[in-house]
Amino acid sequence: MKKRIKIFCDFDGTVCLGDNRTILFRAFGGDDVHEAVSLWLKGEISGDECIRRECAAVQNFDRERFDSIIDEQELDPSFLPFMEFCRTHTIEIEILSDGFDYYIDRILKRYNISDIPVYANELQVDDSGLVPSFPHLNQYCSRSANCKGTHVLNHAADDQLRVVVGDGYSDRCAADYADIVFAKRQLIQYCRDTNISYFEFSDFHDVRERVEGLLKKKRLAPRHRAEIRRREAFRIEANV
Ligand SMILES: [Mg+2]
Repeated sequence: MKKRIKIFCDFDGTVCLGDNRTILFRAFGGDDVHEAVSLWLKGEISGDECIRRECAAVQNFDRERFDSIIDEQELDPSFLPFMEFCRTHTIEIEILSDGFDYYIDRILKRYNISDIPVYANELQVDDSGLVPSFPHLNQYCSRSANCKGTHVLNHAADDQLRVVVGDGYSDRCAADYADIVFAKRQLIQYCRDTNISYFEFSDFHDVRERVEGLLKKKRLAPRHRAEIRRREAFRIEANV
């Protein structure tokens, strides 16, 4: 039976301790990366344009070093027991990332994780550098190259409670459509600014504790404003 809860997790800084995208571009890009990211954060360029500029700024690419930096990155130790908890309770989890499949797949593989769907931007890596592509671009949202809100909207049933766990700028759209938000770092400020109720968390033990509480409830009420936003979004899509 499908569980009444579906969990959407950000990767960089949430499932994984470090922010791989930032770490990698800091290692291989120059000032142009910094410039692109600050324009993106100000809303002056789109998420995909920011990534295109970041990749174009990469110089003296060294694939071995690139891979070895990825191989140093660790998952939050609380994530594996959390996954086990979700498996036991047949709760679905998805990873949503505005980073790249390349490093997410490589890191998850190292931890023998193969049963979690991942939605991320794609990255082709060869000896000369990095070529991104964007299979999840959303024509209505330029905040992120991979608008997490689209997945939160479309990847849960009407009677499932959508839970979002995240920490950053690219989690904003996901939070807009979520019934329950677990937030840390910049996502906290966004929730405060937009009056989205949230739980502050430091790791997945905190998330598990709350989810255990939810499982005991007879009825799970959706967040009213998220429900309205979801309905609006479906209406816009249907009219096209
Ligand atoms: Mg993050």
